[in-house]
Amino acid sequence: MTKWVYFFGAGKAEGDASWRDLLGGKGAGLAEMTKIGLPVPAGFTISTEACDYFYKNGKKYPAELKKQVAENVAKLEKVTKKKLGDAKNPLLVSVRSGSARSMPGMMETILNLGLNDKSVEGLAKSVNNDRFAWDAYRRFVQMYSSVVMELPKGDLEDRLHAMKHRLNIKDDTSVPASGWKELVGEYKSFFKQKTGKDFPEDPIEQLWGAVGAVFGSWMAEKAVTYRRVEKITGLLGTAVNVMQMVFGNTGDNSGTGVCFTRNPSSGEKIFYGDYLVNAQGEDVVAGIRTPMHLTEMKRIMPKVYGQLEKVRVTLEKHFHDMQDMEFTVEDGKLYMLQTRTGKRTPAAAFQMAVDMANEKLISKEEAIMRIKPEDIERLFYPVIDAKLDKKTLESRILGTGINAVPGAAVGKVVFSAHEAEEWAKKGEKVILVRRETSPEDVGGMAVAQGILTATGGKTSHAAVVARGWGKCCIVGAEKFNIDYKSKSLTVAGKTIKEGEWVTLDGGEGIVYSGQMDLVTPAFPAAYQTLMKWADQTRRLGVRTNADTPQDARKAREFGAEGIGLCRTEHMFFTDFEFPEKGQERQRAIQEMILADNKEARVKALDKLLPFQRRDFIGIFKAMDGFPVTIRLIDPPLHEFVPHERKKQEELAKDLGLSADVVARRVEQLHESNPMLGHRGCRLAITYPEILEMQVRAIIEAAVEVKKQGIKVLPEIMHPLTLDKKEFSILEDATRRVANDIIKKSGTKLDYIVGTMIELPRAALMANEIAERAEFFSFGTNDLTQTTMGLSRDDAGRFLPDYVDEKKAGVFAADPFQSLDTKGVGMLIRWGIEKGRSSRAKLKVGICGEHGGDLDSVKFCHQVGMDYVSASPYRVPISRLGAAQAVVEEKSAKKSGKGKKK
Ligand code: PEP
Ligand code: MG
Repeated sequence: MTKWVYFFGAGKAEGDASWRDLLGGKGAGLAEMTKIGLPVPAGFTISTEACDYFYKNGKKYPAELKKQVAENVAKLEKVTKKKLGDAKNPLLVSVRSGSARSMPGMMETILNLGLNDKSVEGLAKSVNNDRFAWDAYRRFVQMYSSVVMELPKGDLEDRLHAMKHRLNIKDDTSVPASGWKELVGEYKSFFKQKTGKDFPEDPIEQLWGAVGAVFGSWMAEKAVTYRRVEKITGLLGTAVNVMQMVFGNTGDNSGTGVCFTRNPSSGEKIFYGDYLVNAQGEDVVAGIRTPMHLTEMKRIMPKVYGQLEKVRVTLEKHFHDMQDMEFTVEDGKLYMLQTRTGKRTPAAAFQMAVDMANEKLISKEEAIMRIKPEDIERLFYPVIDAKLDKKTLESRILGTGINAVPGAAVGKVVFSAHEAEEWAKKGEKVILVRRETSPEDVGGMAVAQGILTATGGKTSHAAVVARGWGKCCIVGAEKFNIDYKSKSLTVAGKTIKEGEWVTLDGGEGIVYSGQMDLVTPAFPAAYQTLMKWADQTRRLGVRTNADTPQDARKAREFGAEGIGLCRTEHMFFTDFEFPEKGQERQRAIQEMILADNKEARVKALDKLLPFQRRDFIGIFKAMDGFPVTIRLIDPPLHEFVPHERKKQEELAKDLGLSADVVARRVEQLHESNPMLGHRGCRLAITYPEILEMQVRAIIEAAVEVKKQGIKVLPEIMHPLTLDKKEFSILEDATRRVANDIIKKSGTKLDYIVGTMIELPRAALMANEIAERAEFFSFGTNDLTQTTMGLSRDDAGRFLPDYVDEKKAGVFAADPFQSLDTKGVGMLIRWGIEKGRSSRAKLKVGICGEHGGDLDSVKFCHQVGMDYVSASPYRVPISRLGAAQAVVEEKSAKKSGKGKKK
C-alpha cells in the first residue's frame, strides 16, 4: 500500500529535511525541526506524490488517502489532546501548500479550519475570550469562501467594511465579539446565496475542501506563471501540510513574524526580520500592516526573542545555510511554523558563501557550489549615477519607502500587472506601482524594471519575490496615495500619472520623479574572494570572444586569460577607435569583393591591411602575453555588399564603377543557402590573397608588439574546415606568409595554426585533421546547426515549442544556448579523442556561445578540453562553471568510492 501521509509531532517525524521532493520544502522543514527538538506544532503532510496522482487521474484522490488522513487526524487529536469540531476544547488546524521548490505566496493557505457553530463556543471557553474566537471564526469563513469556493474577495471585504462602518469602528482590533458574530452570519448567507449550499459545519468536509483547494492552486495561473519565470520544472506537485493552529492574535503577548538568520539583502550576519504584535498567520507576508523590526521585538519581548535567537543559531548550524523562518508567539510561547533556505540577493549570495566558508560552516568548495549563474548576472545592480548633483537629486524626491531590494530602476509608471506586461511587450520600460502586490501580479513584476508598493515590509510578497529576481523594489511607501481608477499616484502634493517616468533607488528606498542615468557599480569584495577560490579550483582555462581592443580589455577585467575567438570579419565594418574611418574600411572590403581579377583584389586588400594590423596590435597589447586566437574571415561575401539599389548606386559611385556592374556582382554572389555556401575557409581556398593579407596583418602586428617588449602568442585559426587536405593547403599558405615575415623581421616569434571544428565531418575525421592542426576550437554554434540540421538564424520560430514542457518538450533547453551534450556532445567527445590519438598535445577549446553557459562549461571540463571561451560579460560564469565542474567531479569520485566499500 502506498503511503501518502506523513506525521510529525511530539519530537518525532516520519521524514526529514532530505525528503523535500516527497514532503515539499515546508513539510520537510517541519519534520526536521520537530526531530531536532524545536517547538513545532504537531501535524501531518500529504505528499507531493498524492498531488501528482490527483492530476494524473482526472483530479481524483488515491483510494487509500481518505483512510490515511483519518488515521493521521486521530493521531493529531491524540497528541494535541484536542478534537476537531469539539464543543469544549476544539482542535483547529492550518492547511498549507508547499512544493519542493519555494514559490512564495503562489499557492493557497487556510487557517482556523475546524471551526463551526459548536466549536467556536468551545474555543471561546477554552481561551476565555469570545471576541478572539468569533474573530477566528469569521477569518476562517472568509478564507474558506474565497479560497475554496472562489467567492469574490472584494464582496467579502465590503461586508467587513460595512459592519465596521455601522459600528463606527476603524481598527479590526476594536471590533467586539458581537460584530464578528454578525459578520459570520452575513458571510454564511452570502455563501449560501452564491453556492446554493450551507457553509460546511463538518470539520472533515472542511478539511477535504481545503486539501482540494491547495492541490488546485498548484495549477492556478499565478503558480504556473511563477514556475515559468523561475524555470521550475520537473516537480510532482504541492504537498499539503495540516498542522495544529497556534494563535498570534490572542493579545499583546502574542504575535507573528518572519525572520532570516542573516540579512537577505546584504548577506550581513545579523538577525533580520519583521514581527507583528497581535496578528495572525499571513498578515506579515501579505504586507497589509507595516510590521516592527526584530530589534523592537527584542525590546518588548526579551525572553521570547532570546528563544528565537537560539533557534536561529540552531537552524543555521543544522542546515549550513541561511534560513527563512516563520514563527508565532502565542501568549508568550514561541512556535516555529516554517524554515526553508532563504532567498537572497546576488550580492548577499556571495557575501554569505564567503562568510560561511570563513566561519567554517561550509567548505570553500560548497561556497563555490552555492553561487548560481544568475547571481553573477544579477550581481551588478545599476545605481543612480553619482555624477548627478545633489540639489537636482533632492529636488526630484517624491517620497520614500522601505528599501526592500537594492539597485536602481527607471521606467514609466503603470498601475496594474496586466498593463506592465502589455507595455513591456511594446518595448516600454515600466515601473509597477501597486498598493500591495499579490501573487497574481508576478507576470507584471517579472517584466517591470522595478516595483513600488504603498504597504508591506521587507518580507512582504513584493519584497520576497523581487529579491529572488534581484529586482529593485521599494515597499511600505505609505505616504503614496495610489488611485487605480484615475491611474495616478499623489504624494506630497505632486501627482504622477500613468506613463510618466520615475526613478527608484531600491538601496535607499527613495522614489524620484523623472528619468535618471544609471551606472553599474564595482564588484563587491566577496565576489572577488569567491571568484579567486573558483580560479584556484578550476582546471579549465577561460578565454573570451573579443574582436576589439576595448572588448579585450573589458574581458580581462572579468578574468579572461586570453582570446579564444577574434572574429576578423567584424573588423571590416566599424572602426572602434576612429569611427569616422569605418566607411573607409567598408569601401576597401567592398572593393575587394567586387574585384573581378586578382590584381584588383590585391589592390583592395592592401588598403585593408593597415586597418587589420592596427586592430591586432591593440588586441595583442590588451592581452599582454595571453594567447590570442584569430580566426580568418568566415561569412559569405554577399553579406558585405548592399542589396538596395540606392546603396548600390552610392557604392558604385565611390568605386568608379557603374551601378549595373555592382548589381550584377551582388546578384552573382547570391546563394540559396548561404549558411552552407561559400563561407569559412572555402573563401581562402578560392581567394588565397585574403588569407595572405590577414596572416600578414597578424604576424606583422605580433612582430611589432614583440619588438616593444610585450609577450605575444598568436594562434591562427581557419574556420569551417572539413578535410585534412583542405586544411593542409591553408596551413602551408599560412606558414609561408608568416615565416617569411618573421625571417625578414629578424625576431623570433612562435605562433600556431589550427582549426575550428564546426562540421560533423571535421569531428568525425579529427584524427586526420589533427595530423596537421595544432589546435581545435569547437564552434558549437555551427556544429549544433550542422549536426541537428536546424538553422541557427531561423530555428527561433519553432524552437520554443521544442523546449516548452507543455508543448513538444523535446529538449530540456534550447540547444543553441545550452549544449546538446547527448548528440552534439557525442561528436565533441569523438573529435577530441580522435584528435588526440594522432596529436597527444592537441590543444582543445570551445568558442561557440556555449562557452558561457554553466552546464555546457561543465561538459567541456568533463570531456577534457583545455579552455572555454565566452563573451566578456559571461567570462565570470565560465570561471564559476569550470570550478563547479571540479567540485562535482571530486564529490562524484568520493561517493563512487564510498559505494565500492
Ligand atoms: C561557431 O560557429 O560556434 C562560432 C563560434 O563561429 P560563428 O558564431 O562566428 O559562426
Ligand atoms: Mg561558426
